[in-house]
Amino acid sequence: MADYKAPLQEIRFVMNDVFDAPSLWASMPRLAERVDPDTADAIIEEAGKVTTNVIAPLNREGDEQGCQWNDGKVTTPEGFREAYQTIVDGGWNGLGGNPDFGGMGMPKTLVVQFEEMLQASNMALGLAPMLTAGACLALDAHGSEALKEKYLPNLYSGVWSGSMDLTEPHCGTDLGIMRSRAVPQDDGSYSISGTKIFITWGEHDMAENIIHFVLAKLPDAPKGPKGISLFLVPKFLVNDDGSLGERNAFSCGSIEKKMGIKGSATCVMNFDGAKGWLVGEENKGLAAMFTMMNYERLGVGIQGLAAAEASLQSAREYAFERIQSRAPTGARNPDQAADPLVVHPDVRRMLLTMKSYVEGGRAFSTYVGQWLDVAKFSDDDADRERAEGLVALLTPVAKAFLTDRGFDMCVVGQQVFGGHGYIREWGQEQLVRDARITQIYEGANGIQALDLMGRKVVGSQGKLYELFADDLAAFIEKEQGNVALEPFLAPLAASLERLSDVTEQVLNQSSDDPNAPGAASADYTNLFGLTALAYMWAKMVVAAAPKVEGDSSGFYSGKLKTARFFYERLLPQTVSLAESIRSGSQSMMEHADHEF
Ligand SMILES: Cc1cc2nc3c(=O)[nH]c(=O)nc-3n(C[C@H](O)[C@H](O)[C@H](O)COP(=O)(O)OP(=O)(O)OC[C@H]3O[C@@H](n4cnc5c(N)ncnc54)[C@H](O)[C@@H]3O)c2cc1C
Repeated sequence: MADYKAPLQEIRFVMNDVFDAPSLWASMPRLAERVDPDTADAIIEEAGKVTTNVIAPLNREGDEQGCQWNDGKVTTPEGFREAYQTIVDGGWNGLGGNPDFGGMGMPKTLVVQFEEMLQASNMALGLAPMLTAGACLALDAHGSEALKEKYLPNLYSGVWSGSMDLTEPHCGTDLGIMRSRAVPQDDGSYSISGTKIFITWGEHDMAENIIHFVLAKLPDAPKGPKGISLFLVPKFLVNDDGSLGERNAFSCGSIEKKMGIKGSATCVMNFDGAKGWLVGEENKGLAAMFTMMNYERLGVGIQGLAAAEASLQSAREYAFERIQSRAPTGARNPDQAADPLVVHPDVRRMLLTMKSYVEGGRAFSTYVGQWLDVAKFSDDDADRERAEGLVALLTPVAKAFLTDRGFDMCVVGQQVFGGHGYIREWGQEQLVRDARITQIYEGANGIQALDLMGRKVVGSQGKLYELFADDLAAFIEKEQGNVALEPFLAPLAASLERLSDVTEQVLNQSSDDPNAPGAASADYTNLFGLTALAYMWAKMVVAAAPKVEGDSSGFYSGKLKTARFFYERLLPQTVSLAESIRSGSQSMMEHADHEF
């Protein structure tokens, strides 16, 4: 198995050359005072060392040992506590956090790079900082000053960790039917009761306190999603002087045996009159939780991309080492019994497909990070509003498209290994098992697609879509005459036109067919994702082309050639996706129950 090595050159290329993030930071005063290119580079360098040297080596062992549950306590795999402590010591939990409460306040265009390295090195362990960072975001955005002062500093430092408690045995997608209850108490707190399942890192031995963010209903709450409130429920109550007090009234009833991410604990949490505090307003908990969920959704998209990067690193090395059969054009290694796998067109197809999606996906997550930065730090109201719209539109694409392709690329990586991909030794089967969950949790990908098509596109009557289409059209306009982009601009424009056409068609259909958005949603997400990646590859061509001359490493010429592969071999899928969407909902909806 090739050991994971943080792809620092790739990351620097995307962050600095493709998106010129340092200029973006310098243009926004609130960021300019916090981050400069040297600081950002030192952070990337250090993140590379920690993830490559400390966290990645535990990935295999974590999978084999898994977490152990005993009488309510969860013991993590060997080495996890120490590695978590390294994350705490480096302040990584608070990298993007609010500096008023101990966070480092770094821009998302930088934070996404750390997140990719962390998740690629060890997805099971990486979930702990990811959930904590999301919890901090929700608390910072919606909590009272008193709650923020009491909890945020220790969450940002990682001395305490956070978890997100939504799912119940009978409800996952449809949280409106949840049964957990919160009863107001005289002292201003709430008494929380109910059972939550599938709670990632709900219990463990790596942090001294675990702060649960629990959704529950007040006794007189309206029915459905409008009657849900969000509560902060600490494992150990926190005294006014900040010291830890008595154990709160909830416990971990068991942990799940599962397909992958075995190094992480997936917990059943039983709340039995636990003391909790309201975050935000009563009955507005789902909106508050969405702050956390949106953060996690991009984070989960990055997990998909990260698993595919780890798989690609191994597959590429294997394809050059393993010898099997001769090249169709004659022996490449006449001195050896056979040629390396990489001479075979189909193996090259697999590697280049992986490279296309991984590198395109990295650029796309940075693109979303860029809009998150503008939305958070710009002083211009109109810029902020536009960026918020783009983030809302792009988040479900990042979650669903990057995880669907991320999982697919892990399977492709496994295929490069033939039978050796199916056995433990090479690590590919673990990546396939680990990556699978990214398509399911944080809102299954079908729900992400529905969010994109139904809520974001149809719900805004196409206005949010236009923000993306205008941005891409402006790029095409600006780059007219760029010789390096000559082979790419026409297919890029055609892909945008295709996407705009079907967008309009679904908007029209949905006025008299309520099933139209749902029927189109999965194909639409794929079509959107492919068009967005075509945009990303065109941006990478713009950044790479001037650097090809004089570069003997092949890094920049490889970018131009991969762009061509993406445009010629992968982007044409948009034609069939558009055709499929145009057929409407009838073929999905006409079966009577007994015809299934
Ligand atoms: C390992 C793991 C870790 C997890 N971590 C957490 C955690 O930390 N916190 C937490 O709260 N939860 C967590 N979850 C729960 C996870 O988020 C849910 O499993 C997920 O949201 C799906 O809910 P469900 O399993 O109830 O499926 P269901 O809601 O029953 O959905 C089943 C299928 O039906 C589809 N479907 C449902 N409704 C619709 C609809 N209206 N339109 C179209 N399709 C629909 C879904 O897309 C899905 O494919 C975790 C789950 C796992 C397995």
